[in-house]
Amino acid sequence: MLSKKDLIENAYANGFADIGFTTAEPFDRHRQFLAAHQKEYGWVKSMGLDLLQGTDPRSILPEAQAIIVLMESYYQKTFPKVLEGHFGRCYLDDDRFTRDGLALRITAFRDYLRKHGIQSKFPGHLPHRMAAARAGLGTFGKNCLFYSRKAARQGSWVLPITLVVDRAFEPDAPSIANGCPAWCRNACIAACPTRALRADGTIEPRKCISYLSYYGEGLTPRELREPMGLYIYGCDRCQNVCPRNAPWMAADLPVNPKAAAMQEDLRLERLLAMDTAYFESRVHPRMFYMPTEQMWRWKMNVARAMGNTRDPKYIEALSTAGAGHADERVRAMTAWALARIGGTDARAAIEKLRQDAAAVVREEAEAALDGLK
Ligand code: SF4
Ligand code: SF4
Repeated sequence: MLSKKDLIENAYANGFADIGFTTAEPFDRHRQFLAAHQKEYGWVKSMGLDLLQGTDPRSILPEAQAIIVLMESYYQKTFPKVLEGHFGRCYLDDDRFTRDGLALRITAFRDYLRKHGIQSKFPGHLPHRMAAARAGLGTFGKNCLFYSRKAARQGSWVLPITLVVDRAFEPDAPSIANGCPAWCRNACIAACPTRALRADGTIEPRKCISYLSYYGEGLTPRELREPMGLYIYGCDRCQNVCPRNAPWMAADLPVNPKAAAMQEDLRLERLLAMDTAYFESRVHPRMFYMPTEQMWRWKMNVARAMGNTRDPKYIEALSTAGAGHADERVRAMTAWALARIGGTDARAAIEKLRQDAAAVVREEAEAALDGLK
């Protein structure tokens, strides 16, 4: 019979930073919260994740008796600075599609359980942060993220992995609490560029840049383009500014080789000009929330980020995309981005966009020229 000690040793042997245990009781308070905030979270169901159902572990595994939570830090090595400026770090070493890193270690741990007669399920819709808190693995921050008691020097660069199992284990003491120091003047809330974080420690997910970058509908509204800044996919701003993360951010870490190898493929000029084959072979396997038919959103985000760099080196790429891209949302964003950079060449490219076949592009070009006056 496997003991908790055996599982703890196996978790560490498989490279996890921490492990905790909780019961398979339903997450009733979380369910009530979700039910009361369906306007904000209901859209997740259309992505194939029924969050309300996920609050009952026995709907995932009818024989469930416990939840084992493994703690993974996705920021064990550092990322190229230029990538950190445009992408959320958790997406720069994400193997959910390629299954060549973390997935292998989760499988090894589950194989160990199976070998000892324990059935496990690894659901995507169980409230994993709340499960981690119930298993005593850390506390919450006002940015709604989970701060580990051990990994990343007690920082938030972690991913709790929840396994529902059909064997009972003594639950650990819960740590469901906010762990922010009283002296922090809500740096995360103040720093959130799109005001997604609320003073009461909750978030409006549809205002978060992460959501907006991969699920936002249509042409990004003008008032969001500057606040979304340089981010193309995800956002780490509320974690970057958090003093609870300062110890890990000051650590001298080796470079993540996988992320370093992606740097060239993720150059903004390449992303703006990419075709389907490029996207499907070099981008989508790592960042897969947008399917091929939504490549336009990738490019629109890239054009907006280029504009926000205010770097004239992007004028040529933006002008080319503005003149020839098939999607009017991309062409429209190039007009805005060119104006954000400014200068004679940018103005000339915007003048051409005034003649575009699509009204939305002509309007953006007019507004861009007005802004340049
Ligand atoms: S990830 Fe960015 S946009 Fe989202 S809450 Fe944090 S700071 Fe705001
Ligand atoms: S910035 Fe301050 S309030 Fe926000 S999560 Fe960090 S410690 Fe908490």
